[in-house]
Amino acid sequence: MLELKHIKKSYKTGNFVQHALKDVSIKFRKNEFVAILGPSGSGKTTLLNIIGGLDRYDSGDLIINNKSTKQFKATDWDSYRNNCIGFIFQTYNLIGHISVLENVEMALTLSGYKRKDKRKKALEALDKVGLKDHAYKKPNQLSGGQMQRVAIARALVNDPDIILADEPTGALDSKTSIQIMDLIKEIAKDKLVIMVTHNASLAEEYATRIIEFKDGEVVHDSNPIKKEEKETGAVHIRKTVLSYLSALHLSFNNIKTKKGRTFLTAFAASIGIIGIALILSLSNGFQIQIDEFEKSTLSQMPITISEQSIQLDEETMEEQMQVVTNDKEKYPTRKEVIPVDSLADSMLHQNIITEDYINYIEALDQSLLGGKAYQRATALNLITEKEDGTYQKVNTGTTMNDMWQVFPSRTEEAEAGVVEENYDVLAGNLDSKELGLILAIDSKNGVNKTLLETLGFSGEENVSFDQLLGKEMKVVLNNDYYQNYGNYFMPNTDYEALYQNENDITVRIKAIIRGKEDKEMITNGSTMYYTEALIDQVIDQNKESDIVKAQEERDYNILSGSAFDEENTKEIALSYLGADTVPSAIYLYPKDFNSKDEITEYLDKYNEGKEEQDQIVYTDMAAMMSDLSGNIMDAITVVLIAFSSISLVVSSIMIAIITYISVLERTKEIGILRALGARGKDITRVFNAETMIIGFCSGVLGLLIAYLLTFPANRVIENLTGLAGVAKLNPIHALILLIISITLTVLSGFIPAKMASKKDPVVALRTE
Ligand code: ADP
Ligand code: MG
Repeated sequence: MLELKHIKKSYKTGNFVQHALKDVSIKFRKNEFVAILGPSGSGKTTLLNIIGGLDRYDSGDLIINNKSTKQFKATDWDSYRNNCIGFIFQTYNLIGHISVLENVEMALTLSGYKRKDKRKKALEALDKVGLKDHAYKKPNQLSGGQMQRVAIARALVNDPDIILADEPTGALDSKTSIQIMDLIKEIAKDKLVIMVTHNASLAEEYATRIIEFKDGEVVHDSNPIKKEEKETGAVHIRKTVLSYLSALHLSFNNIKTKKGRTFLTAFAASIGIIGIALILSLSNGFQIQIDEFEKSTLSQMPITISEQSIQLDEETMEEQMQVVTNDKEKYPTRKEVIPVDSLADSMLHQNIITEDYINYIEALDQSLLGGKAYQRATALNLITEKEDGTYQKVNTGTTMNDMWQVFPSRTEEAEAGVVEENYDVLAGNLDSKELGLILAIDSKNGVNKTLLETLGFSGEENVSFDQLLGKEMKVVLNNDYYQNYGNYFMPNTDYEALYQNENDITVRIKAIIRGKEDKEMITNGSTMYYTEALIDQVIDQNKESDIVKAQEERDYNILSGSAFDEENTKEIALSYLGADTVPSAIYLYPKDFNSKDEITEYLDKYNEGKEEQDQIVYTDMAAMMSDLSGNIMDAITVVLIAFSSISLVVSSIMIAIITYISVLERTKEIGILRALGARGKDITRVFNAETMIIGFCSGVLGLLIAYLLTFPANRVIENLTGLAGVAKLNPIHALILLIISITLTVLSGFIPAKMASKKDPVVALRTE
C-alpha cells in the first residue's frame, strides 16, 4: 500500500547541493515495524518527511494505494497527513500554550470532529498511553517520557494507518526508552510503523524489519518484500478543515500566555477608536441639543408669513455664491459700472397675501396648530393717561414691531394653546372675554422702559401688577381721531379730549404672563399683546370712516399728501387706516415638532406650479438656525474624524508588525499544525483569529474608555456652556466602530497571516 520508487531529494544551499536521498526504493507492508538505522546526516529524517507528506520529493514517485502521488495537490497532502499519518518526533513537538488534552484533540479538530466525540476519543488515547490523569496539565508540567507519550497519543488518536517516529527515544533515558518502545510496539500491532533510531539494539529487539541507510542510500534491508507476496489493505484519505471557532480557540489560548503585550497592543490600537467615538458622541449630543432647541423654540419662533420673507433655499444660495465667486471679471479695466442685485433683495421674497391664501391657511388641519395669529397693518389710535395727569398717543406700530404683537389665538381643535403650554399667568385672567391687552414680561419680571413709558408710567420706578392690571387705555376711532382739512386729513392732537371721547373703545391689561421656568426662552423680552378681536372691532368701525372713504377716492396719500409709488401704495395706506381686512402677516404656532413638518409641507404645496411672484414663502427661523448650526457641526465632525483616522492608520501598521512578530514566535506551532494536517488556509485562519481578537479587544476597550471619558467631557461642557449631558455615545455608532476596529486589524494582519501559511512545514518544524 506504500511504496517509494527511485525517490531523489537534494537540498541546495548557495552553490552547494546536498543529496539527502539518492534513488531510494522501498516497499512497505501494511502491518510491520520498520526500524531505520544510519549515521547522522544519512537522510533518515528526509525520508520520513517525504513518506509523511511534509516534504516533496524531487523525482521518483511515492505510491499510495497503488496510485502515484505525482498529481497530488497541496490539500491532498494535507488530508493525507491528517488521516493516514501519525508523527512522533524526538523533541515531542507539543503546543505549549494549550493543555495536554487539547494537544491530542488537535488532530481531531482538524478532521472536523464534534466537540464531544473529540473529547471522548482524546481521553481514550491518553488512557492508552497511561496519562489520563494528566489530561488538563500544560505540556511543560510533564517529564520527557510523559511528553513523548502525549505525542504518541496524538499520533494515535486519529487511528492512522501509518506511524512515523523520528528518534522517539533520542532524548530519553534508557529506562524510559524501553517503556516508550513497548508502547510503540503495542500500537504497531495493526499498523505500519516506521521508526528512525540510532539505537541498533533497540531496533533488533523491537522491529520486524531493519533498513540501514548511508549517505542517502539503502545499504541493507533485513526483510524486503518478495515478489510473490500479496498486496493487502489500503489507506483512507479524508479532507481536513480547521473551523473558525477552533482557530479562535487556539489563538485565544495563545494570547492568554501574553496578556500584557496583548493589552498594550489593544490599548494603543484603541486610541483612534477612542477619538472617533468621542467626536461622534459629541456631535451626536450637539445634534440632539440643536433639535431640542428647535423644539423648545416652537412657541417663540412661529412659522411666519409676512410681506417679505427671507428665502434661504438652495437655489438662492447658489445664485448668491455665483455672484460672489465666479462669472464676472474681477477688477475690470473698462470704464463702466455694472448693475447687480443686492444680497438682501435676492434673498427677500415679496409675499402678496390674498384672501385665497387666507382660505388656504384656514383649510389647514387646525389640530396641527397650538395657536395662530393674523397681524394686520392697521394702526391702533391708542391714548394713555400719564402719571402726571397729561395724555399721550401710543405708537403701536404696525408689522414687525417687537413690542406690540398680536396674541396667538388658540385654535378650537388644539388640546392646549401655545400660550398655556409655555407661559404662566401671574396676574389677571386670560380667558375673560374682555378685549384687553396681555403683557408678557421677561424671566426677571423686566419690562421694556419705553413700553412702560408709553403706558403712562415714569419708566424709573417699579410698577406693581395691580397698577398695570388696572391701567385703562382708549382706542380712538378714525372719525374722532382724524380731522378733515378739505383735501387732506390730520390727526387730532388734543389727546385729553380724545381720551374723554365716549365713542372710544376702552382697553385694559387683562393678564400678565411670564415664560415657564422649564421652557428655554431665547427671545426673552417683554411684549404687549393685543387680541385679534380688538383689531377686528376697530377695523369693523373704521372701514366706513370718512378718512377711509376719502382715501379710496384720492390717488395720493391723504395723510401725508405725497403721491403713491411702488413702495407706498394706496393699498398700504388703506390697510393702515383700517380699510383692508387681509392680514399683513400670519404667524403659525405648530402644536409640536412633527406637526411643524406637516404644516410646512402643506404650505409648500400651495406654491406648486405657481409663478415666482405668486408664490408665498414662509420663514422658519428656528429651522434656519438649527440647519446652520447643524451644518457647522457636521463640518467640524468630519475634520476631527479625519484627524483621528490617522491614529487608526498608525495602529493598523502596529498591528501588522505585532502579527508578524507573532508569526515568527509561533513558527514551531505552524510546523506542528501542518504536520497534523492543517492546510495553509487553516494557518491563515489561526492568525486572522488572533488579529480579530486583538481588534475586538481594542474596539471594546476604546469604546469603554470613550464612554468613561464622556462623563468628564460633559462636566467641562456644562461648565463652559451650561448644557448638561451633551456627549452621548450612540449605540449604533459604537457597533459600527467595533466592526471597523475588527476589520482594520484583520486587514492589517492579513499579509503576515498569509506569510505564515506559506511557511515550509519542514523548515517550520526545525525552528526552535
Ligand atoms: P538524518 O535525519 O539522517 O540525520 P537528514 O535527513 O536530516 O539526516 O539530512 C540529510 C542531509 O540533508 C544532511 O546532510 C542535511 O544537512 C541535509 N539537509 C536536510 N534538510 C536540509 C535543508 N532543509 N536544507 C539543507 N540541507 C538539508
Ligand atoms: Mg534526523
